[in-house]
Formats: sequence, structure tokens, C-alpha cells
Amino acid sequence: MKRLAALVCSSTLAAAIMLGGTAMAASKGLIGISMPTKSSARWIADGANLVKSLEQKGYKTDLQYADDDIPNQLAQVENMITKGSKILVIAAIDGTTLSNALKQAHDSGIKVIAYDRLIRNSPNVDYYTTFDNFQVGVLQGGYIEKALGLKDGKGPFNIELFGGSPDDNNAYFFYNGAMSVLQPYIDKGKLVIQSKQFGMDKVSTLRWDGATAQSRMDNLLSAYYTNKRVDAVLSPYDGLSIGIISSLKGVGYGSGSQPMPVITGQDCEVPSVKAILRGDQTSSIFKDTRDLAKVTAGMIDALMSGGKVEVNDAKTYNNGVKVVPSYLLKPVVVDKSNWKAVLVDSGYYKESQIK
Ligand code: BGC
Repeated sequence: MKRLAALVCSSTLAAAIMLGGTAMAASKGLIGISMPTKSSARWIADGANLVKSLEQKGYKTDLQYADDDIPNQLAQVENMITKGSKILVIAAIDGTTLSNALKQAHDSGIKVIAYDRLIRNSPNVDYYTTFDNFQVGVLQGGYIEKALGLKDGKGPFNIELFGGSPDDNNAYFFYNGAMSVLQPYIDKGKLVIQSKQFGMDKVSTLRWDGATAQSRMDNLLSAYYTNKRVDAVLSPYDGLSIGIISSLKGVGYGSGSQPMPVITGQDCEVPSVKAILRGDQTSSIFKDTRDLAKVTAGMIDALMSGGKVEVNDAKTYNNGVKVVPSYLLKPVVVDKSNWKAVLVDSGYYKESQIK
């Protein structure tokens, strides 16, 4: 019986190797990739880049998108475990809801990499690959500081603040990074939040939803700005900026004597790069998902071959249970002056996609 099984196995392997008559390397194993949503282009790019990098290294992939639905993501991750994934790469919707599945993964010897978003409150997160999220916020706040001339003593200006999803650890890093630049000007009265709404408990935007941001901006404009001008809006993500811009245009900003305020963003999604060129949005943050995929695939290869896993930060990302060893990439600020050099010359976008 054993011999028969061995025979069947080896002939299946041979068939796999000789697929289509061409010699092919046997797969180095299945990698489960769980992404939050397809509603934002960055995650589509992340998924595609991960699959590409991993296939080049000889892995099979199981890429799933969860439609921003927490039970859906949980079911997808459980399924990846059942299907025999060797490693899980997870960009969580809610960074606290996967603990049981991760325990199951750990008990089956599966390593877990938190991808871009930290998974919180679980000991079963082995590594974290992301961008320097605090620096993202510093760049957003720094852009507002520069655009308004705050360093030169200009002001006071009116500002309103938006935060990301409260269940995404990154949202706090973005907010705190931005406030590390803006708070001193608020304290000096050079930046005034007419609504007095600050702090993630007041300004966050569940699930990074643009429509939610738009209706909050509508409310802010009608409650606090009927006879005042808002000069800057801190927005952590392009999808929110789109909603904020619609709201502002609805009350006449962006025309005649009422120029748009300074509006930040993140991800350099195509519609928002176009908005920057039109002058509706002021800046965004570019995070090269090709590099994040490369770093993550390199980590997977090291884990699978027993090699040394490269990390460059072992102190910043405490997930509530442990500090997760991380690899942080550098975010880059993009505006009208450098979009072509950063986004087109690097081959990330074709110029025809933007213009
Ligand atoms: C990512 C950002 C993205 C946001 C909304 C965050 O976790 O780091 O790049 O803008 O999620 O998708």
C-alpha cells in the first residue's frame, strides 16, 4: 500500500514537473494572501504585485479580497489554512478580529505576516511589512505647514482634521504623525479648528469611507463655515479627499474668489493624481506597492528556506501583546511639481493614465 502511494505520488510530481511537455520547477508551496477590499486601487495593485513577485520565486498563491467585510475575511483566512497555505500574508480590515484563526494557523506551523496594517492583540503575528506610517502623517502635516507658510509666521488659518478608520492601527500613526507637525501651530493659535473637533475619537472615518467623510465635511461647512473660509483640510487618504472635495465644491470652493483649501491625501490613486493636476487636491503620498510586495516576497522566501529574515525596525510596532519585527519602507510626498518624476518615470503609471 505504502509503495503504491509512493508510486502515485512520484508520478503526480513528475506530471506536475512536466506540465504541457515543458519542464517546470515544482511549486515551492502555497501562500495565502488576504486583502481587505477592491474598492481602492492600491489594494488591487498590492495583490497583483504580491502574486507576481511570489510566482517569480516559484510559489503558488491564493489571493482573496474580503469586500471590507470582517466575517468574510475571517472565512477566507480559515479557508487558506485548510487548503494548506505555508504562510499567510494578511492586510486586515479590522486589526483585532482574526485572533482565533491566527492561533489555528500557529498551531499548524503556518507563519503570519501582517501586510501594511498591523494585526493587533495576537501573539501569532510573526512579521510586519509596511511603510513608515508615522512619517506618512509627518509628510501630510508638513505639506500643510509649507503650503500655508506657517514656518514663516503666516496665519491664523482655519483647518479641519480627518482621520482614517479607527479599527486600522495605521490610522493612529498617520494622525499622530500629522499632529506632531500641526499641534504647535494649533497651540499658538496659528491654526484654528473652528469645529473644535480633534482627536481620533472625534475625527476618524470608519472603513475609510469617502461618503462618510463627505457628509462630515458637509456638516462642518454648514455648522462652522457659513461666513468663514476653511484654509486647509488634513485628509489621510485619497478616497476621503474625493468626498471632502465634492463637499467643498458643493458650497462654491474651487471657483472665482473662493480657491480650494490645501487638501492632503495618500496612495496617489489615479483619480486623485488627476485632482492634483486640476488643482482640486494639493498633495498625496506615494507608497510603492511594488517594493512592499518585493520585501514581503523576500521575507517569505527566507522563512521557507530557513534563511535570515530581513527587518529594519524592532521597536515601533507593539501590537498589544508583543513588538512585531518589521520592515518599513519610505513614503514619498507627491504634488503638482514632482508627480511625473515620482509616478511616471518610475514606471508605476503610464502618463496616458493620468493625462
Ligand atoms: C493604508 C493606506 C490606505 C488606507 C485605506 C491604510 O491601512 O496604509 O495606504 O490609504 O489603509 O485603504
